[in-house]
Amino acid sequence: MNKTLRTPVIAGNWKMNLLPAGAKALAEELIPLTEGAQCEVVLCVPYIDLPTVLSSASGTNLKVGAQNCHWAEKGAFTGEIAAAMLKDIGVEYVIVGHSERRALFGDTNETVAQRTRAALDAGLKVILCVGEVKEERQQGITLEIVRLQTKIALAGVSAEELQQRVVVAYEPVWAIGTGLTATAEQANEVNKGIRDLLAELYDQDVADRTVIQYGGSMNASNAAELLAQPDVDGGLIGGASLKAADFAAIVAAAG
Ligand code: PEP
Repeated sequence: MNKTLRTPVIAGNWKMNLLPAGAKALAEELIPLTEGAQCEVVLCVPYIDLPTVLSSASGTNLKVGAQNCHWAEKGAFTGEIAAAMLKDIGVEYVIVGHSERRALFGDTNETVAQRTRAALDAGLKVILCVGEVKEERQQGITLEIVRLQTKIALAGVSAEELQQRVVVAYEPVWAIGTGLTATAEQANEVNKGIRDLLAELYDQDVADRTVIQYGGSMNASNAAELLAQPDVDGGLIGGASLKAADFAAIVAAAG
């Protein structure tokens, strides 16, 4: 496992927060705070904020992402956004399979796989979220659940697509927005389990080159310990990504 083969990715998930003016202000506050970043820095913002944040991020090292996309190219899907629409306005990343989409909006392993495929086909990079709920951890089936989610989502994804355009985000659902963080050992154990699965599905070299993040109440105080783990290659950050100083501290910890 050679960590130097991978550039860490720190991604903020702003969820359904910030009107365009607030999004512009936060993006612009982050530019000077993250300009020397040694990692990839991505802001995943609400659809309505994308044009504003894309404009603010232009010419900086901040990348911009959306938080979901539909699997169809186009058609009668009222209220949905196609991956090609995101690509067309300059979006680079899209989060797929976030636990809030799975729990609240009916996403399944199969629709997550379809969204992943559509995003890759449109030329986007995917942040693919997987993770167990509290009961599954208590039953000792965390690895089985995460392996299943990952395997289904990646069916039909080539080795080249995986290592160049897919970031896997391990997000234990019980740790998201709760203030409960996985210990560094728990995070690394599951991230390593995902990497072992990638080695089985592809090969060890592909697995060693794939970025696997941790997400779940990562903040300015616990980021350094989590990010120092051999199989943790960055973070997907919710709450703390809305505070410029906290998010910048996490970015610095990944350097
Ligand atoms: C998330 O929404 O992906 C997340 C990790 O949220 P939080 O950092 O707030 O737990």
